[in-house]
Amino acid sequence: MEIVTRFAPSPTGYLHLGHAFAALTAWRRAREAGGRFLLRLEDIDPGRCRAEFAAAIEEDLAWLGLDWDGAVRVQSAHLPDYRAVLDGLAGRGLVYPCFCTRADIAREVAASAAAPHGPDGAPLYPGTCRRLPAAVRAARLAAGAPHALRLDMARALAAVPAPLSCEEAGEGRVHCDPARFGDAVLARKDAPASYHLCVTHDDAVQGVTLVTRGVDLRPATDLHRLLQALLGWPTPRYAHHALLTDAAGRRLAKRDQAATLRELRAAGMAPAELRARLSPAG
Ligand code: GLU
Repeated sequence: MEIVTRFAPSPTGYLHLGHAFAALTAWRRAREAGGRFLLRLEDIDPGRCRAEFAAAIEEDLAWLGLDWDGAVRVQSAHLPDYRAVLDGLAGRGLVYPCFCTRADIAREVAASAAAPHGPDGAPLYPGTCRRLPAAVRAARLAAGAPHALRLDMARALAAVPAPLSCEEAGEGRVHCDPARFGDAVLARKDAPASYHLCVTHDDAVQGVTLVTRGVDLRPATDLHRLLQALLGWPTPRYAHHALLTDAAGRRLAKRDQAATLRELRAAGMAPAELRARLSPAG
């Protein structure tokens, strides 16, 4: 089978070394196998993404010497597609509108005896809006109340064959446990679709066969596997790689002011030298 990989950054800032490592990993896996490497801009969050960063991503990758196949997929150009998927899930009774604010959820969680936590350490949504009487829900929707859309995890799990698993490089078949996400948000009040929905949809429609990405996104794969099962999408293979760290072993991230590719370029770094330094990941 042809290897198709992708690099899928969000244009919320300039690419830093961690991004370069992720991009190179995906690019190398494709090129070594004579496969295809795709570039996708995950820009569905209107509050955080900027066109200027999107343009910079292409420029920086080209400087690094990476080429991608076909046109860049820009998620914000595909909002009707994500909406259609959400409508389909709603039609099957698998998502519900959630009107809660963060404060509502915090209050509810504080009042409950047992508050399970999700993979990100935050308490799981307590299900308040799942239990809303139909008439209340309908009235709020009719009044145009802002709402997110949440996956009804129990119903979703009941709708797919169990157990779910996927192929992780170096480990073989691994078990997926999406339940630990609880009723995950698939569309936010302020963003038309969530990362989880868009990334899974796009990997499917773009024919991605090998998802390489940082190990920080590994837990999310369990939820993506559930969406694939619900929506009849193929499951790619996964290769989660370690995150680049600094000399002190700390993860490089934008908020830590990790060196951007632009700064390295301005400082005279040669792309070949940088590529050599960022040796292949698993
Ligand atoms: N857009 C995500 C990010 O920038 C990556 C998505 C993925 O590789 O699955 O963190």
